[in-house]
Amino acid sequence: MAVATAGTDVWRPGTDVWLDRRRRVAELRTRYGFARQLLDFYGALLPVQEKAFIDAATAQPPAGALVAYAAELVFPGVVDVSVAAGPDRLRVEVIDRVAAQDARDIVAAWMRGEDQPQVDRFLARASLGPALEAIAEARAACEGPRDAHHCPECGGLPQLSFFARSSDDLASGPRKLLCARCGATWGYPRMTCAACGEDTGARLPVFSEHGTTSGARGSVVRGLPAGKEVARPDAVFPHMRIEACDSCRHYLLSVDLAIDPAAVPIVDELAAIPLDLYARERGYTKITTNLMGF
Ligand SMILES: [Zn+2]
Ligand SMILES: [Zn+2]
Repeated sequence: MAVATAGTDVWRPGTDVWLDRRRRVAELRTRYGFARQLLDFYGALLPVQEKAFIDAATAQPPAGALVAYAAELVFPGVVDVSVAAGPDRLRVEVIDRVAAQDARDIVAAWMRGEDQPQVDRFLARASLGPALEAIAEARAACEGPRDAHHCPECGGLPQLSFFARSSDDLASGPRKLLCARCGATWGYPRMTCAACGEDTGARLPVFSEHGTTSGARGSVVRGLPAGKEVARPDAVFPHMRIEACDSCRHYLLSVDLAIDPAAVPIVDELAAIPLDLYARERGYTKITTNLMGF
């Protein structure tokens, strides 16, 4: 296997993605005390994942060898970080699972989109994700429907919704969904449920700290009166909202990069634990849990 070694002039593809993630972890861990442990664990995992990404991009393992590749070369590093820096419960579960189950089976089940225990999902996802991000053929080898509600690259479910920065600095750009399995993004209509396609505004409650956005029926997370679209100075998540659906009772979190251009959706979504708790209290189920199981 070819590995990009430090000090050489090997091209390191996409490394700014990892730089952005590390930068955002450092920003949010001071801002969100309630998420510090989780962010520190994710921050400890990032170097393992970045190395896996660079190695996979360099070695380009064929799709048929991907499970063995991730299980043998990435999985052990994910286990080590989980045992060293993971939450207590995860640490115990990881040790149990590694003793009981072959890493290849855990990774393969995730590629096939099967139901798995949460600890398996975490291990498989953390191990395989970087290779899927790096190699298009690997994404194509994953099982899952390729329709509007699933990732066009790998068939995975949407982890989150985000509004990209638009060319007009004051407006939100187009809506996109981000894949839980491979991190690819795809365009999706606004005010449409990402799980079932419901597009009747009255059935799509939006919960945020700064009231409604245009066209959306909104409620306010902390009991603050719904107001203008201006972010409240005391808002904890001024750039985030819960997008729920009363038809299928699913929700996902949405990140607006026009409000916070420094946000990194995949990191901000992990840290927004109070929004997940708020949605759950109201009986909604996330379309799919994030890497940390929320
Ligand atoms: Zn995907
Ligand atoms: Zn729905």
